[in-house]
Amino acid sequence: MSLVENNDTLTERYQNVMQRIHHTALKAGRDPARIQLLAVSKKHPLEKIAALQTLGQQAFGESHAQEGVGKILKWQEQHPETKLAWHFIGPLQSNKTRPVAEHFDWVQSVDSVKLLQRLDRQRPEQLPPLNICLQFQPVAEPGKRGVTWPALAHLAEVAAGLPRLRLRGVMSIPPRTRDPQEQRALFEQVRQAYENLRQHYPLDTLSMGMSGDLEAAVAAGSTLLRVGTALFGPRPA
Ligand SMILES: *Cc1c(COP(=O)(O)O)cnc(C)c1O
Repeated sequence: MSLVENNDTLTERYQNVMQRIHHTALKAGRDPARIQLLAVSKKHPLEKIAALQTLGQQAFGESHAQEGVGKILKWQEQHPETKLAWHFIGPLQSNKTRPVAEHFDWVQSVDSVKLLQRLDRQRPEQLPPLNICLQFQPVAEPGKRGVTWPALAHLAEVAAGLPRLRLRGVMSIPPRTRDPQEQRALFEQVRQAYENLRQHYPLDTLSMGMSGDLEAAVAAGSTLLRVGTALFGPRPA
């Protein structure tokens, strides 16, 4: 396979996803410009990130600290003039926070006070505050990341008081269901939690919806879609 072929496919997929978002937004009576696309580039090489960047994509999501930081450093070395926004979206262990606090622009997967405190302490002074989304679970699922209400409200209160963090919103990966109405109802619950917090804090980010469920997420008010497979194709094992 030539690189040109690869990039043509990537271009097509990107345009498809952008169109899907556009149509879905209009159908839901929403302004497509208020819905951001996060390209989830985990397990995909930097070349594909570069190809998407030339198409206008600026925000990328990574799930592993080491892999993500490696890409960020390489990107900065190879493209010192072009700033991207890097979002950490994966499970974060509290002993792995430092490289994330030092290199990412956002952490969307925060679900404990301990993580908040460490990220705040480890965020370098010369960088802007680290953007934070709290990970919310509309239904408690054992073994899953994220907190339920009222733990979410408590985390928001802590986050809002930490100077090196900027609380931006809520992220969620609700349990998957085949029933679109059920899916929509779960996203609505996330939105409700987000709106509740928004009464107290100046939030602007409701991160929900992936390749397979972005329509339901947009209908329920998502402002940030995290899309991997629909953009890049299947992830290498
Ligand atoms: C991998 C991942 C995605 C992207 O999922 P796709 O189904 O490939 O679009 C979104 N959010 C999180 C938190 C992920 O880990």
